Amino acid sequence: MKRGVAALAVLIVLWCGLVWLSGCGPDDAPPPDPFLERQRAALVPSCQDDLALLVGVPRYVVTATLNAADLTLTGRQTIRYVNRTGKPLRDIVLRLYPNLPQYIGGLGLDEVRRGEKVLEWSYEAEDTAARVILPQPLAPQETLALDVEFHAKAQAINQDYVLYGQARGLLSLPSTLPLLATFGADGWRVDIAESHGDAVLADVALFEVRLTAPETLAVVTTGTVFTTTRAGGTRLTYHIVSGPARDFGILAGPELRVVQAQADETTVYSYYQPAHADGGRAALWQAAAALRIYNRLFGPCPLAEFKIVEAPLGVRGMEYPGLSLIGDGLYAPANRDDLEFLVAHEVGHQWWYNLVGNDPLLSPWQDEGLTEYNTAFYYRLLYGQARAAELKRVRWTIPTESLVKRGRDAPIGKPVADYPAADYEAIVYAKGALFFDAIRQAIGDEAYFKALRTYRRDYAYRIAGPADLLRAFEQAGGRPLDALYRQWVRGE
Ligand SMILES: [Zn+2]
Repeated sequence: MKRGVAALAVLIVLWCGLVWLSGCGPDDAPPPDPFLERQRAALVPSCQDDLALLVGVPRYVVTATLNAADLTLTGRQTIRYVNRTGKPLRDIVLRLYPNLPQYIGGLGLDEVRRGEKVLEWSYEAEDTAARVILPQPLAPQETLALDVEFHAKAQAINQDYVLYGQARGLLSLPSTLPLLATFGADGWRVDIAESHGDAVLADVALFEVRLTAPETLAVVTTGTVFTTTRAGGTRLTYHIVSGPARDFGILAGPELRVVQAQADETTVYSYYQPAHADGGRAALWQAAAALRIYNRLFGPCPLAEFKIVEAPLGVRGMEYPGLSLIGDGLYAPANRDDLEFLVAHEVGHQWWYNLVGNDPLLSPWQDEGLTEYNTAFYYRLLYGQARAAELKRVRWTIPTESLVKRGRDAPIGKPVADYPAADYEAIVYAKGALFFDAIRQAIGDEAYFKALRTYRRDYAYRIAGPADLLRAFEQAGGRPLDALYRQWVRGE
């Protein structure tokens, strides 16, 4: 009897197992996703399994035309958005970053549709956001496809530092597409960023862009060019896949030259103006070295292509996905040391900004302090401990001591808006770097790198909070670090 029951139970289990297995068989396999498959080209071979993590992220399918004569970018995009907020949504908010005063540009919407239905929207947050009203609420896990027509306009600007616009033969168009806002605890985030901090707060997305531009223009963007076709006349259309990206950057110039190198699985390009060939080659070497070092220390950069591009940023730099813009003022031979430092810093942001995101408005130290400090390992591994110690002294210790002497010291953990512009970099970058140095000294090199590899793995393609980073260090170091955290980050 007992045996009989046991045999029956085995049969039932086997039958259920077969039914379950057939439920996962090839007949019911999810249909191939051509959009996702095309994104494969933007990922290095060892990270292509990451596509499984990116199935539900926002998708932008963009067709746009760049007109170099009047500095406009016009086009349309279909945004596929899965409501992963856990709440029904009555509206969707798009950010229009070029309308920020520090961008000196313009971005407007011409039409928004869901299928055939034209939707209404209203501008808010000083025109840096458009709130699109949905006729019916979007349920949790429901997918929405929005068709958005847009027009962006840049200006020719006679300034040393040009974030968005044209200067000295270089047209810089970062964050020029309408981008989904992020959804926080209080709803859609429509922060107006201070000019002394970074503006873009965005979830990782996948972009597929068909960008038409004059063939006389070298066009450099986030991602990998899939194909280039003639668009009629003297224009070319670049079909681009971004890979995982929080933004889509475009930089163009008629004179840009390029050199390339390989850094592990990633192809690195350096674009430069003809007068800066030596600087362009130096930047290539530095970027490739930084990528190799950071790949080893933090885990691989997933992007198949990475570009360093001379941009009208004076002696500053700016990070975008797969793209680091380096100020044209740094390419002169006299500024070669600063060029190297900026390149080492901006390359680091591919890990701490694009791959693992954080809130650049409320906790800018989390990527800036970390990225800044990690340049020490670039210098230590390439040039030795003495050079890394000198970097620490000149870049971080002296500015931090100066803050204290001038009575301007503050904790590193405040929002950008709470710092005076004049003190922002000394506190968030220099003192921020010293905080990470204090962490490393407390737990040792091995635990420090282990923590960052774990943080990279666990928060890849997500936005991590300060507590997530602290936890990674505490777990790898096997000891609490809250005293250090309270002292440096909160000023307690
Ligand atoms: Zn930075």
